Amino acid sequence: MEKDVIESSIGKCLQCLKCTAGCPLASWMDYKPNQINRIIQMGDKDRVLHSSTIWLCVGCQTCVTRCPMKIDMPHLMDDLRKMALKEKIPAKEPNIALFHQLFLNSVKRWGRVHELELIGLYKLKSGQLFADMKLGQEMFKKGKLKLLPEMAGQKDLQQIFRECK
Ligand code: SF4
Ligand code: SF4
Repeated sequence: MEKDVIESSIGKCLQCLKCTAGCPLASWMDYKPNQINRIIQMGDKDRVLHSSTIWLCVGCQTCVTRCPMKIDMPHLMDDLRKMALKEKIPAKEPNIALFHQLFLNSVKRWGRVHELELIGLYKLKSGQLFADMKLGQEMFKKGKLKLLPEMAGQKDLQQIFRECK
């Protein structure tokens, strides 16, 4: 979404709060989804790019489904994250940004995500070495975490990554 498209789309926001009322992450966000729109309407892009909200949004689509104006908040959040990265603004939720990056790197390397590698690298880089150990053991026992990556279509994916640069 281009900047002017963002502004014209957000300009339609009625501040009815239906998005925020349905958002499963709203309690953890520093600005609720409707407040993000209001801040953009006021022209304070910088405040939005420094917010935790843009990193906490999981793209679940609940807000756009409920919105009477069909404002595509998940798409907007994607664009805001891209803008924050481009402007080298440190992510307010650094571990989420780290997870996104490691996930994409894994997909780029193997053609699909290699969960065990992703978990290992995330733990090392985030410093959360012993978090969720029990859950990891259970998943491993049930065969949900494979030791070796299952490779698929790397060349096609690498081409997509190159074109998206
Ligand atoms: S539901 Fe739509 S119109 Fe209502 S506050 Fe949210 S974005 Fe704005
Ligand atoms: S897409 Fe993002 S902002 Fe919308 S409801 Fe889901 S988490 Fe909340």
